[in-house]
Amino acid sequence: MQILLLGPPGAGKGTQAKLLAERLNLLHLSTGDVLRQNVANKTALGMEALPYMESGKYVPDDLINRMVEDQLDSPAAAEGVIFDGYPRTLNQAETLDALLERKGRPIAAVIVLDITDDELVERLSGRRVCSGCGAIYQLKSMPPLKPDTCDHCGAALYQRVDDNEETVRTRLKVYAEQTSPLVEYYTAQRKVRHVDASQGIEKTFERVMALLGGEG
Ligand code: AMP
Repeated sequence: MQILLLGPPGAGKGTQAKLLAERLNLLHLSTGDVLRQNVANKTALGMEALPYMESGKYVPDDLINRMVEDQLDSPAAAEGVIFDGYPRTLNQAETLDALLERKGRPIAAVIVLDITDDELVERLSGRRVCSGCGAIYQLKSMPPLKPDTCDHCGAALYQRVDDNEETVRTRLKVYAEQTSPLVEYYTAQRKVRHVDASQGIEKTFERVMALLGGEG
């Protein structure tokens, strides 16, 4: 089963994708996470991607498409994938369609997480990420039990460099210009299901599961 999560930065794609991947036993493929790992390991890909990421712009399609193709070839992807943050451009959507068609694994559903810009800016400025296991926190709605420390693995939490207000505004603009047209692209394929993502993690997850035909 291949499922796409579409929505602006801060809508909760990463959080919902993790929950879905666990529940449905699928690979969680976040292009943002793969890029950040490459940056941390100082690979050639990471060094090329870094300036785009720091300024909130998109990394060029050919780099991203090649990276995803590699990930899809791994055995972990065989049962199906939750795509988080990919595709983000029409070129990426068309590339993914062609790739999945070749593999005989069509997209089952595209979940669109709907939320307002004001809520996104507030959410992202309070977002913290675990440096050990990648767990995501929100200082207001989902704070860690101990400040700056992950509840799950005890590692330190950090703030993403692109979660400052100025970069967040750029990311929202880039999303509106380059990614929101994908909602129409997949609506034409009759794959889109909309979810109100302002209602909190559990409620949103229940709704997503219901839309996928399971229980939350
Ligand atoms: P994310 O963690 O999904 O918010 O991604 C963080 C940053 O990585 C984005 O702001 C982009 O610079 C880059 N990135 C992640 N996924 C993509 C993609 N599919 N296409 C282009 N750039 C991406």
